[in-house]
Amino acid sequence: MTDTRLPPELLSLRIDAEAPLIIVDVDEVLGLFMRGFEGFIGTRGLEMRIERFALFQNIFRPGASEHLDIAEGRRLFDEYFEHHAETMDIAPGAADALTTLAQNASIVILTNAPAQSRVGRARWLIKHGLPYSLVVNAGPKGPAVAALAARTRGTAAFIDDLLPNLDSAADAAPAVARFQMVADERLRPLAFSAPQRHRRIDVWPELGEAIAESLGLVRR
Ligand SMILES: [Mg+2]
Repeated sequence: MTDTRLPPELLSLRIDAEAPLIIVDVDEVLGLFMRGFEGFIGTRGLEMRIERFALFQNIFRPGASEHLDIAEGRRLFDEYFEHHAETMDIAPGAADALTTLAQNASIVILTNAPAQSRVGRARWLIKHGLPYSLVVNAGPKGPAVAALAARTRGTAAFIDDLLPNLDSAADAAPAVARFQMVADERLRPLAFSAPQRHRRIDVWPELGEAIAESLGLVRR
């Protein structure tokens, strides 16, 4: 099968065809993205006001009532990912939860980080005890989730913070269990959710236990 929308590394990954598979996002799931980006823009004299579940619309110059120009926000976002994202903190409990799950399941990291941050992102994962295969996607994640899940006869689960990615996975791979996780405590009350479609659990290790249960790794 070839699909030009899929990340090229996806088809060459080694995935155990008999084991359950866990596909997990990075930013705001394994890593505290908002805190990291906030720290970076602070070095540029800017501040993050977490008033809505958005990114660029939350960046302000001190004292300003209008958010920073969106194009300027995007430029900072690209610069952060290219040079500073390796300083991001890991979400509490994430490494321990995945280490436990990895005893009985394959794990693939599926990120939509800009392509130029691939090497730094891989280093970040290793540094934080997350030595799993990395797939750098662009756009909706459903096609990549479906292609990964097709590589195993086992059960599969997908974890992301963003509803569009979860909805995309629901469309492309409805048999894959879905979980929404929002790591930043300030974003949690602001995040859009659809718990009837995607189970939401914002803290590791409870999330890890629910993933294990969904994959049939623990007795109910
Ligand atoms: Mg994310």
